[in-house]
Amino acid sequence: MADWQHLIALEKQHLWHPFTPMQDWCAPEHEPLMLVSGQGCVLRDQHGREYLDGNSSIWTNIHGHNHPTITAAITKQLRTVAHTSFLGFTHPPAIELAKQLVDLFPGEKLMRVFYSDNGSTAIEAGVRMALQYWKQNGAPQRDTVLSFDRAYHGDTLGAASLGGLPVFKGSGNDFGYNVVRVASMEALEQVDASRLAVVIIEPSIQGAAGMRVWPQGMLRQLKTWCHANDVLLMLDEVMTGFGRTGKMFACLHEDVVPDIIAMAKGITGGYLPLAATLTTERLFAGFLAPGNTFYYGHSYTANQAGCAAALASLQVFKDEHVLELLPQKVEQFSRALDVFRVHPAIKEVRQVGLIAGIEVCSAELVGPRICMAAREHGLLTRPVLNTLVLMPPLCATEDEMQRMVNALRLALDSVL
Ligand SMILES: *Cc1c(COP(=O)(O)O)cnc(C)c1O
Repeated sequence: MADWQHLIALEKQHLWHPFTPMQDWCAPEHEPLMLVSGQGCVLRDQHGREYLDGNSSIWTNIHGHNHPTITAAITKQLRTVAHTSFLGFTHPPAIELAKQLVDLFPGEKLMRVFYSDNGSTAIEAGVRMALQYWKQNGAPQRDTVLSFDRAYHGDTLGAASLGGLPVFKGSGNDFGYNVVRVASMEALEQVDASRLAVVIIEPSIQGAAGMRVWPQGMLRQLKTWCHANDVLLMLDEVMTGFGRTGKMFACLHEDVVPDIIAMAKGITGGYLPLAATLTTERLFAGFLAPGNTFYYGHSYTANQAGCAAALASLQVFKDEHVLELLPQKVEQFSRALDVFRVHPAIKEVRQVGLIAGIEVCSAELVGPRICMAAREHGLLTRPVLNTLVLMPPLCATEDEMQRMVNALRLALDSVL
């Protein structure tokens, strides 16, 4: 038996995968795809077959796989120390990274960095900060969080409570705090703003909802509304951060700096789990009085190797002029996507930066079958229902983006 066959037998005996119907997965005829190595936009499986990483390994990868700068930085850090506690201690990579993260925003507004280790915890930290802030600073009636229909803010119970997509709720409903959800800016008029602690939104584009694009200018309006009503504004840039939308952060397209921002997925270039919640000095100051401490955190807070990877990823942004090259790439990506804009089976193409949702016109659920078929054409990606997702790493060349589109089109035509 080949090594990989043995591994796959063990896999089916012992593993349980996220968001995966496990009966089909474990069926004898299903051979799981095992990804064994990667280079740039390319991933290689157990048979040596190559695939383009069409969704940046579930929206995380920024500069490609096995980038020498990031790999070297992690290796160097591991030879120094891999992880130390952030409870009662600090370390150089976390400090250097915090300084660089706050410098990514104009106006010296977001000055405080709270680390955690994934998007859901970055969101939960922000929500807890907002709720506790009002509770101990004279407005305990501000006990409600406002989120948007079809929002997705993560899978832990607290983050899932905010979500507006029933599929991610599992057996739970809302947990431990009050959430009101609205569909649009207009619906805010009906909300009692005096009860709100914080408004949370995925700026520019909702990811898990199927790449749904907000109207231009909406974020600015929302900021104005929050300001007028003294409600905190929190942005979930877990997917949109680190260049994905064409600027370092989506909020910078509308010159909005929020009161709280959560970042994760792309922060380490997609190499290690790390997350950060940035906030203002005003909010931070609300935790300084005796008894007002923020008693919250995780064992792997500010993991040293993760911070080293994040610093290296920011270095690559500079070394390779990533942001400067993005407008041209976004245009090339858009041109390649034109084939879907005129395709009779496509209802809509939604694009922001290097994020695309290609919605298939079909009463049946065909998205998963199309993405399965794309593997035959050398492309890996995952749909959201019937919306096909293409999200190339920012290092993708025009040729690679074109090949991603070609593979997806061949798959689409083979299934329909
Ligand atoms: C992925 C994602 C999250 C959750 O991040 P995890 O690291 O998976 O917990 C939250 N918000 C958005 C917008 C995301 O895309």
